[in-house]
Amino acid sequence: MMLNLQISALLLVTLGALFLMQALVTARFLLNDEYGHPRGWKILFGFIILFLFSYVGYGVMLTARPIETIDLVIAAVFFGGGLFVVMVVRMSVRTVQYVHHMRALERHHALHDSLTSLPNRRLMMERIDQAIVAAQSRQKPLAILILDLNRFKEVNDTLGHHCGDQLLMALSPRLLSAISATDVVARLGGDEFGFVLEDVSVDQVCNICKRILEVVDQPFVIDGHGVSIGGSVGIAMYPEHGDEPQLLMQHADVAMYEAKRHGQGYAVYEPEQDQYSLNRLRIVTSLRDRALFDQLALYYQPKISLQDGRVCGLEALLRWHHPTLREVYPDNFIPVAERAGVMRQITHWVLRNTVNQMEQWQNAGYPQHVAVNLSVRNLADETLPQEIRQILDDYSVAPSAITLEVTESSMMANPRLAQEILNKLNALGFLTSIDDFGSGYSSLAYLKKLPATEIKIDKSFVLNMTHDESDAVIVHSTIALAHNMGYRVVAEGVENAETLELLQVLGCDVVQGFYFSKAMPAEQVLAWVQAHNLNHLRYARAI
Ligand code: C2E
Ligand code: CA
Ligand code: CA
Repeated sequence: MMLNLQISALLLVTLGALFLMQALVTARFLLNDEYGHPRGWKILFGFIILFLFSYVGYGVMLTARPIETIDLVIAAVFFGGGLFVVMVVRMSVRTVQYVHHMRALERHHALHDSLTSLPNRRLMMERIDQAIVAAQSRQKPLAILILDLNRFKEVNDTLGHHCGDQLLMALSPRLLSAISATDVVARLGGDEFGFVLEDVSVDQVCNICKRILEVVDQPFVIDGHGVSIGGSVGIAMYPEHGDEPQLLMQHADVAMYEAKRHGQGYAVYEPEQDQYSLNRLRIVTSLRDRALFDQLALYYQPKISLQDGRVCGLEALLRWHHPTLREVYPDNFIPVAERAGVMRQITHWVLRNTVNQMEQWQNAGYPQHVAVNLSVRNLADETLPQEIRQILDDYSVAPSAITLEVTESSMMANPRLAQEILNKLNALGFLTSIDDFGSGYSSLAYLKKLPATEIKIDKSFVLNMTHDESDAVIVHSTIALAHNMGYRVVAEGVENAETLELLQVLGCDVVQGFYFSKAMPAEQVLAWVQAHNLNHLRYARAI
């Protein structure tokens, strides 16, 4: 009986001591600083260890003297105490872990983009900070890149934000695959991504840029639509282009716009680019000003038919007489206007003014056929056909006197919608032309489906075709194929007599270029056309 009592009491005290030891093991990692109050836990640990000593002392006592019933009660209290401590410690640890987990999650949300899970701008700035410190100590260069997608807004505008999101999600693993595991890629917002590349030379960065652009260029399949977007990358190097994160980002941004402006894929920052970037800022502000429309003007460039050498039409080209920047060319402000969302108003203005001018020429007895350029934004605007119709209703000009020029690449941004809009425009009686042909991705087979009347070979092929054999071959085969498909072919960028002669031989239908005339103000057009037509046979193709 006595022995039983003793064993039971000893068992209870030992179990209590084991609980205490378990509590120590469970809570030991809380001594780490990152869990907050290590001092409080240290004191608690001290107490538990003290308890443990008293448990051991009491256990030894139990073996040294005869046992009484009260000892069993005390041993039970020791057991309960141990159990209580281990339970409290376990629950505390769970709570601390939960809080810690929530805090980590919160930090992740605060520093990552929720759509792509890539680091966000804030984390990117932190990473640049850390990379600068590392680069300083290792005396190694560092590159900051900004990538902006070229036709993402069109995807969003035409296919909807849901598709835009899908595209971004599909893009991020591709971007990760283009860089090494230690480099950082972050989503800076919208369609902008940033990269931090450590220990790289300019040459290495350029190679990485090529890889990045390659993965961006590969088409995406979103909701069954094939979508092609390109990208432009700006590069700023530490320490040459700045030694602070903010400055490096700013310079990478300037370089990115430079790359976009020249359509060259990527560009390394150069201080002279800042002037351009300042101008771009001024352009953005001025585009939002109503006074813009008082500063715009339309110039007209003649198109010559090679059948008879006569002027067969004019192309309306925008000019902007900016008060401080003076002459701003469309290549410099149209892409900015597209991004700023004012292209709809600009096209509206161009159409109304063109049609008004056409009516004046018509009333003077010299009707002219005029081509107007549409922007990629217009092709995403389903109300466009109706709007153009309304403008024509105010004038007595036939839609068949107007050609609407649409660039090949803008049609490829959303082929389905572009086709729909072109069909509507055709049904209204307008002629349509595929501009800058050869500079996009499309094949003539795709274009066969489009209700276009005309193909304009991109001037980049025409400018050098008398010197560059491959350009001549492209022009030649485009003319042959386009004729086969029933399109009229226009060559723009004809700057000299040799090019004209070659185009005559190759069977081109219409030519346009500085050899004949640059775009001129409306008041000079009729006199120019009359003077040209007096000598028209000089330009006609020999029959
Ligand atoms: P584009 O539609 O390809 O227009 C032809 C451009 O080539 C014009 O430049 C014209 O001046 C230029 N060009 C014509 N012949 C020659 C030549 O022999 N040699 C060379 N080097 N260039 C020649 P511009 O007027 O600066 O317009 C540039 C682009 O801006 C146009 O390219 C067009 O895409 C856009 N654009 C112009 N006006 C408008 C407009 O009203 N609306 C829209 N959406 N875009 C416009
Ligand atoms: Ca054009
Ligand atoms: Ca063109």
